[in-house]
Amino acid sequence: MARVSVESLRKEYDVGTVVAVDDLDLEIEDGEFVTVVGPSGCGKTTTLRMLAGLERPTSGRIRIGETDVTDVHAKNRDVAMVFQNYALYPHKTVFENMAFGLRMSTDLSADEREARVVETAEMMDIEELLEDKPDELSGGQKQRVALGRAIVREPDLFLFDEPLSNLDAKLRTSMRAEIQRIQDELGITAVYVTHDQHEAMTMGDRIVILNDGTLQQQGKPTDVYENPVNEFVAGFVGSPSMNFLDVAVDATGGRLQLSDPAGGFQFELSAGYAERNDVSLEADRYTLGIRPENVSVTDAGSKNAITATIDVVEPVGSDSYLHLDVDDEFIARVDAGVDLSPGDRVSLTFDEADVHLFDHDTGRDVF
Ligand code: ADP
Ligand code: MG
Repeated sequence: MARVSVESLRKEYDVGTVVAVDDLDLEIEDGEFVTVVGPSGCGKTTTLRMLAGLERPTSGRIRIGETDVTDVHAKNRDVAMVFQNYALYPHKTVFENMAFGLRMSTDLSADEREARVVETAEMMDIEELLEDKPDELSGGQKQRVALGRAIVREPDLFLFDEPLSNLDAKLRTSMRAEIQRIQDELGITAVYVTHDQHEAMTMGDRIVILNDGTLQQQGKPTDVYENPVNEFVAGFVGSPSMNFLDVAVDATGGRLQLSDPAGGFQFELSAGYAERNDVSLEADRYTLGIRPENVSVTDAGSKNAITATIDVVEPVGSDSYLHLDVDDEFIARVDAGVDLSPGDRVSLTFDEADVHLFDHDTGRDVF
């Protein structure tokens, strides 16, 4: 078990033409489960590979426990990595796959190794498969074996690189719960990489959001959801995504108006809004963010509302998503029982407490 500390970690490829990871600082507590999330190409795998020792940082330091491992070879780091494609040895049995790492990384006797493998196989519910070869296994079974192979070593640190991407949705959900249970039971520090914000939000004690190799925000999932620091995080976390509107603020800072004059929308902020939120709103353009679940849909013609036409009604169980013709796209989440159809004209309103405002140019949250 160990805490992990990453300081100014940087990785350039192709003599600096690609900056995959850009001066990343991270502190991971002993026993913590941290999810790292971001779009494809944002540097997640590179970060994990540097933690594992499979990739050499261009600069920066990595500490695992008390040890600076920046220059320590992968096989001398007490780290186990689980990959998306399982990476099992095809000619070895499940037992041999699991025992192999143990033989390489510990000085247990053959009997002790066998006992550990069997015990872990029981924990992973794969004891029936120990004599099978990987190509006799289903995708879900292979992933259990890959997990078992990581667990059996009792490493200081678990690294997961999108381990569930190749599984179907139902299996993914049950494996998520299982990975969390095992990590919790063993108390091993874990860094779990995924491009799936839902997975990151539901699994992580803490979520770390990357974009373009750069740390955007880290924190508890609910804090990041409620207080995104910029437009990127606001749009990335939550599904369907937050709606964004280009607005202009008037000289008193009291009124927001869609920048597109055809929008015909005015939203009056209450007196003292700027003071309460400790911001000074200049007469300038901003990006207004509002989540689909915070939009109320009423009859057309309400005051302080956007008038819009419904393009699509998308039923999702107890809710429906209304796709509306505001800007490029605007989504409102409503009760599935509501009687609305494509073509209907409606009014969209929201509480100012649910409104996010971002700097129009930098995307930074302004309060
Ligand atoms: P992610 O896992 O988030 O999809 P990666 O860490 O794989 O992102 O990649 C980050 C960036 O580094 C991407 O632009 C990718 O093309 C680039 N990259 C990754 N590995 C290499 C490599 N071996 N050589 C050159 N560029 C690479
Ligand atoms: Mg990757």
